Amino acid sequence: MESPTPASARIGIIGAGPGGLTCARILQRHGIAVTVYDRDPDADSRNQGGSLDLHDDDGQLALREAGLLEEFFELARFDGQEMRHLDPAGNLLSHHVPDEGETTKPEIDRGQLRDLLLRSLAAGTVQWGRTLESVSETGHGPRTLTFTDGTNAETDLVIGADGAFSRVRSAVSPATPRYTGVSFLEAHFDDMESAHPELSELVGRGSAHAADGERGLFAQRNSGGHMRVYIMQRVPMDWIGAQGLSSDDTEGIRAHLLDAYASWSPRTLRMITDNDGPYVDRPILALPVPHTWEHAPGVALLGDAAHLMPPLGVGVNLAMLDASELALALVNSATVEDAVRAYEKTMLPRSAEIAQMLEGGAEHMLAVPDPERLCRGSCARGSFALPPPAFPGQAAGIEVLLEGRGASGAVGVASCA
Ligand SMILES: Cc1cc2nc3c(=O)[nH]c(=O)nc-3n(C[C@H](O)[C@H](O)[C@H](O)COP(=O)(O)OP(=O)(O)OC[C@H]3O[C@@H](n4cnc5c(N)ncnc54)[C@H](O)[C@@H]3O)c2cc1C
Repeated sequence: MESPTPASARIGIIGAGPGGLTCARILQRHGIAVTVYDRDPDADSRNQGGSLDLHDDDGQLALREAGLLEEFFELARFDGQEMRHLDPAGNLLSHHVPDEGETTKPEIDRGQLRDLLLRSLAAGTVQWGRTLESVSETGHGPRTLTFTDGTNAETDLVIGADGAFSRVRSAVSPATPRYTGVSFLEAHFDDMESAHPELSELVGRGSAHAADGERGLFAQRNSGGHMRVYIMQRVPMDWIGAQGLSSDDTEGIRAHLLDAYASWSPRTLRMITDNDGPYVDRPILALPVPHTWEHAPGVALLGDAAHLMPPLGVGVNLAMLDASELALALVNSATVEDAVRAYEKTMLPRSAEIAQMLEGGAEHMLAVPDPERLCRGSCARGSFALPPPAFPGQAAGIEVLLEGRGASGAVGVASCA
């Protein structure tokens, strides 16, 4: 069966996350019709989570293609580019203070980014409350989408932007995410300046990271005086239940954490004890590496659906870069199949290479920061310090990826304590 032209095709995107919405926006800018389906009941039904740094060489490039870069800069927190590495006592190991006018990786709340993208779409583009159950098997042509409410939709191209537990993925690959061995526990802080002045002083305006080899803390400022701390531990996935606790037992979890972090100073322990409200359990999962598949007609994957990796600050940027490249491939190709093949030719090897570099990266978040190495570069991008390369070429790749892809010599200019 002949593949349709992108302009005449019925294109359905599953997932109104940063990847799916960026793809929809760029397609619409070029006059290509698209429908987005998301399982959330509406745009405001769920707290969208923490702060994201959009890099000038991927996430920001996608926003430029979407015509939204200037609006992003109006919302972005440039002082959020500040990065501190601390020891467990709270002493400063390295400190990156962003230069005046630095735009390498400004921060934005995930909710603000979603709103920015949603506002840019034609009315009715997103159908809320539509949870995809399955995509029909076919050797060619149109795919039938089946939703959990029993409804169906026909598409010439279904784009899986439905995140870690993608339902679209099974149309091209049997892979499922696996637990990395590291779990995050999210702690929330409100009204930082008046309610948590000591923590505000310790963390600064952006992010702060500390680790002792077994466990770590990563604090991240959000807008509106909020802060999130990720309490990072090497534990079994069901560690809360294994301790005889439940995830809503805030006092019980706090007591357990104080025991686990007993050697840390009271100053840094405030990140564990002084939170407002309950902890949120976030086990870290990743897809097998490399994750790749044979091209299948009528299906494309992007973002976490294609290449879920440990959260080392690249996930949203890669999702948006994928989205931009897939949309532009559709704009510039004669048929849908030509476009998806061209997109996969670039996206699959790129994500396989990056996933290989970040494999085991969840563990590295617990590694003691090396001041020597931090001063040579990591602090310039505010990233986690990674250990020496495991194979030739790895270090260059990681440094390019995490410390300044395309960021003209930004590495090494940070002020290090
Ligand atoms: C704790 C944590 C911190 C992170 N911090 C960062 C960071 O600082 N920087 C960074 O770059 N990345 C970070 N990441 C990774 C980042 O969140 C993801 O890589 C990014 O959100 C992927 O975007 P996406 O559009 O592919 O998927 P998602 O953002 O997961 O969006 C998927 C969308 O699909 C919808 N959906 C899912 N299933 C269905 C279904 N069956 N039917 C219909 N709709 C469905 C969901 O409702 C959602 O709206 C972090 C991840 C974690 C876990």
